[in-house]
Amino acid sequence: MHHFHFLIIGGGAAGMCAALGARSMLRCHQIADDAFRIAIAERNSRLGIKIRISGGGKCNITHAGEMMHVLAKGFLRQSEQRFLKPSFFELSNDTVLSWLHSKGVQTLTRENGRIFPRSGKADDVLCVFEKLLSEHAIDVRLNAHVERVRKENGVFIADVGGALFQSEHLLIATGGVSYPKTGTTGDGLRFAKAFGHTVVTPTSALAPIYLTTKPPCDLVGISLRNVALIAESSTRKLTRRGDVLITHLGISGPACLSISRDVAEVLTTEPVSLFVDFFPDDSSERLEWQFISFQTARAAQFVRTFFEERLPNVIVPTLLAQARVPLEQKWNCLPKPMRRSLTAVSKKYFLGDVQHIPIERGEVSAGGVALHEVNPKTMRSRHVEHLYFAGEVLDVAGEVGGFNLQAAYSTGWVAGESVAKAFLAQVLSPQNHH
Ligand SMILES: Cc1cc2nc3c(=O)[nH]c(=O)nc-3n(C[C@H](O)[C@H](O)[C@H](O)COP(=O)(O)OP(=O)(O)OC[C@H]3O[C@@H](n4cnc5c(N)ncnc54)[C@H](O)[C@@H]3O)c2cc1C
Repeated sequence: MHHFHFLIIGGGAAGMCAALGARSMLRCHQIADDAFRIAIAERNSRLGIKIRISGGGKCNITHAGEMMHVLAKGFLRQSEQRFLKPSFFELSNDTVLSWLHSKGVQTLTRENGRIFPRSGKADDVLCVFEKLLSEHAIDVRLNAHVERVRKENGVFIADVGGALFQSEHLLIATGGVSYPKTGTTGDGLRFAKAFGHTVVTPTSALAPIYLTTKPPCDLVGISLRNVALIAESSTRKLTRRGDVLITHLGISGPACLSISRDVAEVLTTEPVSLFVDFFPDDSSERLEWQFISFQTARAAQFVRTFFEERLPNVIVPTLLAQARVPLEQKWNCLPKPMRRSLTAVSKKYFLGDVQHIPIERGEVSAGGVALHEVNPKTMRSRHVEHLYFAGEVLDVAGEVGGFNLQAAYSTGWVAGESVAKAFLAQVLSPQNHH
């Protein structure tokens, strides 16, 4: 039996920050490290695998700006914003960056607000966390897969491949369920359920979308820049602005990743079709007027030239085919019905029907421990004393842009601080002085 005061299951961004948050606060109150043993149980042979693979190996560490703006930009749902607000203010993007800078890792802020290590190496970010954990006397147990966990006589007991880890405080920071090969197989959700928590069924987020009919080979790999991606079912219409990448199974790219969570939800009850508005800044009327003017101004020109000037050439024949406009059609003899359908298809080009959104391929998974059962100021369970949750195991999922890591750091840090505060309240309580 190994005894700890604070056991953290999962050594990702949330778990590591929780350990640092707890130790920092205890040191501020002159609590000796060995008076409060903090351990991280990580099933992999190294911490932070998701940090290492994040941002395509470059790690989009966080997002620049005031935390209020970061929240609003990164989390589209009000419930998530409300839940994350206290922790985002407790541990900000600037604090995380200051840790990196203090260890010599320089960062670079892109125009779109995304922050990366200047070296372009995610590993540099992880190394800083590893150094900090060692400086903060955190007991890191690698290859430690927590299989079961229970609470007996006020103490948590985790079963780690035969060994037992005992602890007064427990944080579940096991991440989501996407990329299961990295170790995130949903164990934490199982533990949460066993402790009586409601778990919102995980769904895909930030994932590619597969279509029932695979895109034609010549379209695979093309990027449709700054379009509006439209997802439509019989009851819902969703839209995202951004780039869409055509893949051999469907679509990907920023607009697709962003819309995938909402589409996955709608797809559970009804079929969804995808469309592209190639000219989201122009209304249909304006586009139609433009086409009318071309009938004299560009009379002898092929209709397709206009589209070839603006879109990847290979998509133009399919666009014209959907509008039933011949490839050799010129503006001067374009019949009105064809002009109308050209406008309609320009604003709503059919991409395909959604077949599937692979949860395992998402950068994050939505769903997880229900937010109303966790106190957002402390990350403490509202059901089980001394139990905490942080990071992606919670029912939050942000946009692409460094928001998900920030949510993991902030909620983890707050959980750690709360554990330390609970311990301090115990040792400093008047009862303990008699
Ligand atoms: C390919 C990819 C790219 C991404 N890029 C970015 C990016 O650039 N920027 C960004 O902000 N976000 C990015 N994300 C999302 C981000 O990585 C996660 O949201 C974030 O890492 C979640 O942190 P976490 O600590 O909650 O969980 P995780 O980082 O998933 O950590 C959970 C840890 O728990 C361990 N674990 C699970 N079960 C057990 C168990 N039973 N016993 C012991 N250990 C266990 C796992 O092995 C894992 O190490 C990306 C995700 C992916 C998959």
